[in-house]
Amino acid sequence: MSAGQIRFMIEKTRESYPVEACGALFGELSGSEARIRKIVAFRNTLESTVRFQIDPEDFLKTLFEAEIEGLQHLGFFHSHSAGTRPSATDIKYMKLWPETIWLIISSINYEVAAYRMINGDLHEVRIDVEAG
Ligand SMILES: [Zn+2]
Repeated sequence: MSAGQIRFMIEKTRESYPVEACGALFGELSGSEARIRKIVAFRNTLESTVRFQIDPEDFLKTLFEAEIEGLQHLGFFHSHSAGTRPSATDIKYMKLWPETIWLIISSINYEVAAYRMINGDLHEVRIDVEAG
């Protein structure tokens, strides 16, 4: 992903603080590599500081647009007002969306980490940041 995409997510995290920011990641998959091409931020319909929820209609609309653009849904991002480890709730939802990338940003220090659930096990995903 690009430095600009990280900046975008940090900006959204700042804007919605203390409510968790959230959004979806779209792009291309090649082998074990995911290339993020587009990030869409959504309103956290729960207005919660510890959980997030995306309006399903907003999400479907975005999913449809991305498909037209030839992009596939790769995952989600959301912010935590603590560290970047997934919460118990996150883990529960990650199990419902296996293989999906979950990117978490800390609203304390803007650290970013990404995870995937593979066969019921939590794996950290390496993030390569390109300039731009
Ligand atoms: Zn979370």
